[in-house]
Amino acid sequence: MAASTKNPVAQSCQDDFDRQALSCEEALKRILNDVVPVDGLERLHIKAALGRIMGEDVQARINVPPHTNSAMDGYALRSQDLPAEGEASLQVAGTAWAGHPFCGNLNPGECVRIFTGAPMPKGTETVIIQEQVQRDGDTIRLAGSFSAGQNVRAAGEDIALGQTVLSAGRRLTPADLGLLASVGVGEVSVRRRPRVAYFSTGDELRSVGETLSEGAIYDSNRYSLHGVLNRLGVEILDLGVVRDTPEAVHAAMGQAARIADAVISSGGVSVGEADHVTDALCALGRVTFWKVAMKPGRPLAFGRVGGAVFFGLPGNPVSVMVTFYQFVQPALRRMMGESDSSPLTIKVRCASKLKKRPGRVEFQRGRLVQDEQGDLMVYSTGSQGSAILSSMSQANCFIVLALETAQVAPGTMVDVQPFSELV
Ligand code: AMP
Ligand code: MG
Repeated sequence: MAASTKNPVAQSCQDDFDRQALSCEEALKRILNDVVPVDGLERLHIKAALGRIMGEDVQARINVPPHTNSAMDGYALRSQDLPAEGEASLQVAGTAWAGHPFCGNLNPGECVRIFTGAPMPKGTETVIIQEQVQRDGDTIRLAGSFSAGQNVRAAGEDIALGQTVLSAGRRLTPADLGLLASVGVGEVSVRRRPRVAYFSTGDELRSVGETLSEGAIYDSNRYSLHGVLNRLGVEILDLGVVRDTPEAVHAAMGQAARIADAVISSGGVSVGEADHVTDALCALGRVTFWKVAMKPGRPLAFGRVGGAVFFGLPGNPVSVMVTFYQFVQPALRRMMGESDSSPLTIKVRCASKLKKRPGRVEFQRGRLVQDEQGDLMVYSTGSQGSAILSSMSQANCFIVLALETAQVAPGTMVDVQPFSELV
């Protein structure tokens, strides 16, 4: 059915509607061109900042390690006292512990008992590990070949004073929290989390906890979306199920756009009689409807309602997740202020035969496993229908098949996007 007969007031919004399908790359490029990071920074203790996006660079105000120190338990000595050949005897003049430096002065021929992490005593540059030393009272004997400067960690070898420790746009990992602590930084400025509102559309939908009447199904999209959004680290506003009437969809969309930086709907985005998302969007905002040359996942609506970015995702549960990962998530990562958000794609041998027709990029669901030799292999999860949500649940990766690819024979190398890389 022609969209224009259903939606005469919104003709201009639908200019793109029936053009040739867009490529995934072009759709993503247009989306990324249209979104910008949200304003606002928050100062957080580093313990609360895991997964948040750095709002500004952090420079080291100290060296790490702050002092040159021993990498091993042993004896610290001057390099001049190392035996050129044969043996050497030295006197133990004291002990240096981590946290308790040896502060005395050493005479030639003297050494210091030293433990890992202890600052190197003045004048010493070398540590001989205790296993290579014979100790007799306060005398040690060295025999063997040693090199000057061995077993010592230099001040600033991890991070140098003044160095940029972490840059703005970085998503903080557990190691980053430790790194910040190592330079004495206990608080960081992070970007405000974008507020993302979402709702499902469909008269057939019931939320978990409700009873299913004849013809009804449970809404799964809101729960999958809750999962992916939560993991991404945005602020989540669940607006529930919206009925298939123009008024209800219109009202939900307007409300969502007032309270959120981004709005996501699922379902009702085609041109059927019950698909009111397109009409409401045209009336309320600047929106483009695209047929994206992908499977599953077309059509897709993208645009703005008020100050909010809008994504109208298809209704089928797998399509929702595929379009979320491919388009919405990169956009939200940009809105979060994250600088690097391109997921790794790897080439892996496919153990299954995959059905495909040329013409669209397919995001089939796969399981990445290791064979007995330790090599990675990918298997299909089986039935690939866009309503088969169990295929997503069983999968740990997308098998990405290019537009022109036809059916894939077992043993072929394919592109794989591990889910762990996506989030
Ligand atoms: P639509 O795009 O609204 O025509 O929906 C396409 C298919 O997805 C239909 O079979 C819907 O019942 C189903 N569907 C739509 N929304 C949801 C949802 N939130 N949860 C589960 N299935 C849905
Ligand atoms: Mg529907």
